[in-house]
Formats: sequence, structure tokens, C-alpha cells
Amino acid sequence: MGISVEGANKCFGDFQALDDVSIEVPDGSLTALLGPSGSGKSTLLRAIAGLETLDSGSVLIDGEDVSRKPTQKREVGFVFQHYAAFKHMTVYENVGFGLKIRKWKKDQVRARVDELLNLVQLHGLADRYPSQLSGGQRQRMALARALAAEPEVLLLDEPMAGLDVATATAMRTLLRQVLTAADRCAVLVTHDLLDVTALADRVLIIDGGRIVESGPVSTVLAAP
Ligand code: ADP
Ligand code: MG
Repeated sequence: MGISVEGANKCFGDFQALDDVSIEVPDGSLTALLGPSGSGKSTLLRAIAGLETLDSGSVLIDGEDVSRKPTQKREVGFVFQHYAAFKHMTVYENVGFGLKIRKWKKDQVRARVDELLNLVQLHGLADRYPSQLSGGQRQRMALARALAAEPEVLLLDEPMAGLDVATATAMRTLLRQVLTAADRCAVLVTHDLLDVTALADRVLIIDGGRIVESGPVSTVLAAP
């Protein structure tokens, strides 16, 4: 079932950031969301996550209308552009935070966090604070945190932005591993065509708050 957004509108003052946006992201698929700066990509992702309230329209996750649900009650994990880690918490605590508030038992949290830190190759850095990490390490911590509670939906807002080429390549490999392992659906905002061809099966193009193209990668890139 994945994600459906139906007739979404969002204004900031008299600026319309989302203009009657409707999208479908099927289960088990990865959709790349492309568009110029300021076109509404982050606003759309934030609306799906419940960090932004729509003026009208709805968000459905696995067929359920979650428009009125708070972020914690939506089955979403996200890695956002200006993601703020909890500065006073260690890597371990940051990754386990969502599990703790979901009242997981201590040993379950430990097992899950260990597993994730292994996956993103941060196992040796569990006791560090975010300020003691490089940009790439911080993005991997954010990814581990997003995956912790096994969300149905993963929202990735330019997770490779600001990383050097080698680190971005490593992150891309990691994402492919993570996204193909589970039957989850994901939306990835990117400016890099390499991400699209390496990771996505569908593409959405947004411009001025409106979806102007959508479809399978091969179709859209063959005749954009
Ligand atoms: P993108 O991620 O595609 O670069 P955004 O979704 O962040 O674009 O923003 C879309 C437009 O909405 C931009 O013009 C931006 O300035 C505006 N905008 C986003 N968030 C706010 C806000 N909280 N208040 C006012 N304007 C905003
Ligand atoms: Mg953005």
C-alpha cells in the first residue's frame, strides 16, 4: 500500500509551497523526489512525517489516513537535511531514543542498537557525542536512528548532501543495502542523478509546489 498523498495544499503566509499535490509511493519501492531549490520537496516530506500540517488534503500510510496523527504515531523514519541530533546524548542514546519512548525493554534496545551500529559501521563510536563525529558519521547515525523502530516508511531528505564523494558513495551503498533488505517504501530527495539511477525505481518531479512528472525511472529519464 505504501504512501498516498491526496490533494495536499500548504501555504506559508500567502506563499503556496504545496499546490494540490497527489502522489502514490507503492510498498517496497523507492521513489526519488527531484526538483529545484524551493520547489516544496522538504515541505512534502515533512508533511508525510507529520512535522508540517497540511491546509487541506490527506496523507495515507498503508491505507490508513494519518493526517491527524502526530509524528510519533506514524510509522515513519526520517533523515532530514538539517537534522538535529540530541547533542547531549551519545550515539548509542540517539539511536535508541525512539525505542525507549516506545517503551522497549532495556536489553531489547541494546540488541537493536548494537545491530544498527554494526550495520552503519559505527559500533566503535557508540559512546561519542554527535559533535565528535564527522559529517558522514553523523548521517549514518541519523540513518540508524531512522531505522531503529523498523518503520514502514523511510523519508530521506538529501542524505548525501554535504558529504565528500567517497563518503556519499559509501552512504549510497548502505542505503541500497537497507532499502532492499526490507519490504519498506522510501522517498529520497536528491539532486544527484547517480542516486536516482543507483537507488530509485520511480521518480517524482516537483516544481513550484506542483508535481509535474511521475513514473518509473526508465520512462521519466528517457523522455523527461
Ligand atoms: P525544497 O526542499 O524543495 O528546497 P522547501 O519545501 O523547503 O523547498 O520550501 C518550499 C518553499 O516554502 C520555499 O520557498 C521556502 O522558502 C518556503 N518555506 C518552507 N518552510 C517555510 C516556513 N516554515 N515558513 C515560511 N516559508 C517556508
Ligand atoms: Mg529541502
